[in-house]
Parts: sequence; C-alpha cells; structure tokens
Amino acid sequence: MIEVERPRPLKEAARITQMLDLVLGADRFDRGPVAIAQLAREYSAKIEPNGPIHEVVARDLRGCVGALVYSETQPRQWAIMYHANQSAGRRAFTIGHELGHYVLHRRTIEQDSTYDHGIYCDENSVVRRNGSGIEKEADEFAAALLMPFHDFRKQLPAKERPDFEALGRIAKRYGVSLTATILRWLEYTDTRAIMIVSNEGFAHWAKSSGPAFKTGRYLKTKDTVFELPQQAFASRRDYSDAAVVGTMQAANVWFPEPAFEMCFRSDRYDQEITLLHFEGEGPRHQGEEETPDTFDRFIQNGQFPSR
Ligand SMILES: [Zn+2]
Repeated sequence: MIEVERPRPLKEAARITQMLDLVLGADRFDRGPVAIAQLAREYSAKIEPNGPIHEVVARDLRGCVGALVYSETQPRQWAIMYHANQSAGRRAFTIGHELGHYVLHRRTIEQDSTYDHGIYCDENSVVRRNGSGIEKEADEFAAALLMPFHDFRKQLPAKERPDFEALGRIAKRYGVSLTATILRWLEYTDTRAIMIVSNEGFAHWAKSSGPAFKTGRYLKTKDTVFELPQQAFASRRDYSDAAVVGTMQAANVWFPEPAFEMCFRSDRYDQEITLLHFEGEGPRHQGEEETPDTFDRFIQNGQFPSR
C-alpha cells in the first residue's frame, strides 16, 4: 500500500489537533476556539524545553502584522509579537502563523543569516495568505490548526452556499476573522465562489474557489487594482442590511453569467468584503486556456481545495 505523505505543515498541525481533540474532546469547538497564545507557550515548552516561546506580546510593528523573535542569551528564549492594532480574530491567525514558524522553521531562522534575530511577517503573507515558501507553510499550519477541516466541513458542507450570517457564526466558532474563515472555506467548497476585498470602489485582492477558477471565474489583481462594476454594492457605497443579505446581479455585471452578490463593510479596516456565488458547475470550457502564469499563481496561492 502506498501511503501518501502529507506536507509537513499539515502533519504538524494534525499532531496538535489530535492532541487537543484527545485532551479537550472532539466537541471542543462548541466550547470555544483554540486558545492559541496559551498553546504556543505550552506546546513549545513541551517540544523544546530549552528554547520555548516564553511570551506572546503586542508590539507596534509598523508594516508587519506579526513576528517570531529570539534572544541572544542561552538558553534561547523565543517570543511571538503581534501588531497591536489587530482585531482579536486577526490576532489569533497571526499568532497561529508565528507558532507555525516556530514549529516548522525555528532552526532555519536561527541559522540563516538573512534573518535578523527573527522573522517579520507582513499583511500579504498572513492576512491574505498570499506568501510563498515558509510564509505559505506557516499559513497552512495556522489555518489547519485553528479551523480543522473535520470540524469545518460539519459546520458547512462542501455543497452549501453560505451567507455572511453562517460565515460569521463560523468565524466566531474559530475565533478568527471573517476573511480567514472565507479563505479556509474557499479551499474545500465544491461550489463556485469568489471573495473580493476592496475599498473606494477598487478590488485590492480576490480569491476564487477551485471550481470557480476552473471555469474562468477569477479577478486579476496582481500588480494592479480592479475597478468594481458600477452596480456592485461596494461601488454604490451601499452597506445596508440588504447588501449583507445580497442580490442577484445580471449577466455581464461581473462576468458573462449572473452572480449572487453580497457585501459586508468593515469600518475598522476601511474595506469591503464582497462574496460572489455562481450557480451550478458553470461553463466547462472556460479557463482551460489560461496562461501558465495565472495557473502557477493559483497553485502557489494554495487555492486548490485539499481533500
Ligand atoms: Zn511569516
């Protein structure tokens, strides 16, 4: 029998997930999310008694959202720092990401001279989950640890098209942001959907589900901004309850087919999250002639649902 080896970030996250399921019960998320800061301190002390994470602290990191740093003194002490002005949900993912660096990359970070007493991570790597190499690995670790698929799929079956209420409930269950929740859902859903993050009428980044991407339903936002259609809620600055609930947009507003659009504004981050749902499996032939560049980026961004 051939056993398919899981990528290391998922293996390490699964190890901790199994331990937590065992200690706290498989229904642990009914009682609350992963206590990530506490876990970082306790788990690091368990696997590396001579160089644990001794504190998880807020700092003004300017331009970064989180960092994993170490002391010069022996025995080595590590610390996770998160940028002070983050919502509790973003903070949890940031700490999870930095714990990922500790579990997976601490030797590299110590030995490689390109790191100056630690690693500093920006919004693109953590919030957008758009980094590569070890940044991508830390994101995969954090997502798997905070939002395990075995629980997430029970909350939201792969064939369902959730509204913001359902997604918000799940975000609360895992103690993460709405953005992190939607990115995780987009990894496994069988439906065709796109999340678009915008402000002032322009999309700054967007992410498609695998099935949406395969039918050509994605926005190009790399090195450019995408002007939203005039009819979009976010273009019209309509942040009413009706926008949150959503409406059917006709063909050719967003794409050559109709889309169900819902929009939620975050004043805190001065941005809108738009979610587009498409019916059915969509036209089968579109997307096959995409340029390798786009396709590689898609894979690199980890947008294929992992099953
Ligand atoms: Zn990082």
